[in-house]
Amino acid sequence: MLTKTSEETWAQFLEFIGERCSATEFENWFASIRVLEGTVEEICLEVPNIFVQEYLLDNYKKDLCAFFPLKASGEPAISFTIAETKKKIAPSATPVVSAPAAPIQETNSTIPEIKLNPFYTFPNFIEGPANQFVKSAAMGVANRPSKSYNPLFIHGGVGLGKTHLLHAIGHHIREHHKKLRIHCITTEGFINDLVENLRNKSVDRMKRFYRSLDVLLVDDIQFLQSRLNFEEEFCNTFESLINQGKQIVITSDKPPGQLKLSERMVARMEWGLVAHIGVPDLETRVAILQHKAEQKGFRIPHKVAFFIAEHIFNNVRQLEGAINRLSAYSRLMGLDITEEAVEKTLSELFQYTPLKKISVENILKSVATIFGVRVSDLKSASRTKDVAFPRQVAMYLAKEMINDSLMRLSSSFGGKTHSTLLHAWKKISSQVEKDETLRRQIDMARRNLEA
Ligand code: ADP
Ligand code: MG
Repeated sequence: MLTKTSEETWAQFLEFIGERCSATEFENWFASIRVLEGTVEEICLEVPNIFVQEYLLDNYKKDLCAFFPLKASGEPAISFTIAETKKKIAPSATPVVSAPAAPIQETNSTIPEIKLNPFYTFPNFIEGPANQFVKSAAMGVANRPSKSYNPLFIHGGVGLGKTHLLHAIGHHIREHHKKLRIHCITTEGFINDLVENLRNKSVDRMKRFYRSLDVLLVDDIQFLQSRLNFEEEFCNTFESLINQGKQIVITSDKPPGQLKLSERMVARMEWGLVAHIGVPDLETRVAILQHKAEQKGFRIPHKVAFFIAEHIFNNVRQLEGAINRLSAYSRLMGLDITEEAVEKTLSELFQYTPLKKISVENILKSVATIFGVRVSDLKSASRTKDVAFPRQVAMYLAKEMINDSLMRLSSSFGGKTHSTLLHAWKKISSQVEKDETLRRQIDMARRNLEA
C-alpha cells in the first residue's frame, strides 16, 4: 500500500537533500529513485541499480534515519528494489556486479580516441635525482608493455608529474606499438562511465570494452577510496586485464598501503612495481623552468631561473604558473625579465620559510659585530656618531624584521621613544637606497639573523 505520507516524506527528504548537494549529484543519484510502497513500518524504494542504493546508505543514512521509520537495530527501515529486475533485495546484500566476463576479443570494436595531453611526453619530462627511477620505470613499461613491470604504480605529491608520466607512456606506446589498444582514464572518469553505463543498461558493453584493452592507464586512483561498489568493479576489471597479461599503470597521491581500499585491491596494486616520484631538487627545478620557458618561446636568465626555483620548491605546476605569468608580463610590458620584475610579478606564488623568531637582542648583537661596537654602547645614551649610527641601523632592522608595536620595540633600546625609532627607520630607509656599503651591511645582518 502506498500511503500519501510516505510519498510526502520522500518529497520532503528530496527537498532537504536538494539543498545540500550539487545539481549533478542530485541528478545522478536521487532523481531516479521512486517510492514503491510505504507503511508506517517500512518504505520500499525503487532504485535503478545497486550503486544508487549503496550510495544512499553510505552517504545519507543519518538523514534517512531522521525522515523514515527505523528498525529495532536503529537502521532505516527501507527495502530496495532494482528497477531492472524488480528483484527485492535486502539493504545489506553484497552486490555482485561483475562476475569476470569471459574475455571477448573484439578486435574491430571502436576504441574512443584517447585524450593525452600533447605536451606530456618523455622528451618534455625533465629528469633529476627525485624522479629518475620512476621515469626509467615508466620508459621500461612504455618500451615493453606488460613485459617489464605490471602493474606499475606511481605515487607522489600534487603537481610532481604523475599525470605527465602516465600520458608519456600513452604517447610512447601509441607511437611504437601501434596495434595495442590503449585507454587512459581518470578514476573519476571510470566511475562516471560506470554510472552512465548502469543507467543505460550497457554495463556488459563497458565490461567488454575494458577487458579487450591491451594497456589501461588510470590516473588518481585515490578517488576510488570509500566508493565500495565502484572499487569492486574496478578490481574485477583490473584482475581480468592482469590475468590476460595486459599492462596497467596507476597513479596515486599515496602508496597503495596508505589508500583506504580493500586489502584485495591494495595487494593487487602491490603486485608489480611501486615507484615514488619526489620533489625535484634545485637544479632540476631550474632545468624545468628553462625548458618550459623555451617551449613558450622566451628565455629567462639563469640567475632569474635560480631565483624563482629557490622560492617555489615543492610543486612543478606552480613553476609552470610562474613561467606563464612571466611570459605574459614580458609580452605585455615589453620588459626584460629581471629579479625585481620576478619579485613583483610572482611574490604571492613564492613560498617563504616561516621567519625565525628574531629578538631585538639578536639584532643588537649582529649590528654590533658588523659595525665593530659593543652591545652595551648601542644600549647606552651615547650620542657619538660611531655609536648613534649603528644604533639607528638596529632600530631600522627591528622595525623591519619584528612584528611588534613601535612602543615595545623602542623600549628595548634602553628606553628610547617610539618617535626616535621611527625617525631612525625613515633615515636609514632613505639612506640605504643611495649607499651601497650600508645596503651590504644591512643585508649581511639580515642573513645572519635569518640563518
Ligand atoms: P601530478 O599529476 O603529479 O599532480 P602533473 O603531471 O599534472 O602532476 O604535473 C604538473 C605540471 O608540471 C605539468 O604541466 C607537468 O608537465 C609539469 N611537470 C611535472 N614534473 C615535470 C618534470 N619533471 N619535467 C617537466 N615538467 C614537469
Ligand atoms: Mg595528476
